[in-house]
Amino acid sequence: MSYYRFIDKGDGPTKLFLGGVHGREGETTIDFFKSLSYSDFSIGKTFIYNFDNTKYISTIKEEYYESKLGKKIINLINKHKPDFYIELHCYNIKNHEKLISPNRRKSQGVPPLIDLENNVLISSVSPLIRKKYFKMETVCKTLEIPCFNKKFYNESYKKQYNGNEILYLNNLDKKSKLSVNTYLDIIKILAKVKNREEFQEIMINKYPKQVELAVKYAKEIFGGEFPPF
Ligand SMILES: [Zn+2]
Repeated sequence: MSYYRFIDKGDGPTKLFLGGVHGREGETTIDFFKSLSYSDFSIGKTFIYNFDNTKYISTIKEEYYESKLGKKIINLINKHKPDFYIELHCYNIKNHEKLISPNRRKSQGVPPLIDLENNVLISSVSPLIRKKYFKMETVCKTLEIPCFNKKFYNESYKKQYNGNEILYLNNLDKKSKLSVNTYLDIIKILAKVKNREEFQEIMINKYPKQVELAVKYAKEIFGGEFPPF
């Protein structure tokens, strides 16, 4: 069953978080959403959708937005008109180099993703929707973490646990734990900030080099004045 959550904290920004955008990614992303407590969210309204497994179609292909789920996502964007639009994805670690390679622009027509740290990658959202459905000021982010191998996932452990944490964290190897912590940290920052400026300031302090790269890529693909975040 796909997962939906609405956090209403009155007036403030509208945020739309999506996971399970394609393939089996929702299996990895859902626990991050579930681990967020009410206090993790800013004022305003936050809508979270984590979708069930679907066929894998890349979001940089037109075909994606012609699919049932692609259309649903466009409808959600039009309905909620978010100030923050965040897609949680996961990727096969084997593709890490390919995703962050500067050649990605040549080979795929999209800027490379940026490695924040611990294999957690960040980028804008698909160029097919970025300008068409969002204002320039909208914070549009894709966050990627290596997908989990669910054989490490221990259902009995999950049942014993009633805290608001990533439930299977103890079953992961050290490297994956670091990825989880970084990924969750960025998700929480995005959930908590009240506006773009606040987000930008935190990111510049935390990841100055990566932000510099983001500025460069945003310029290349969207032109001069486009903000990196
Ligand atoms: Zn994906």
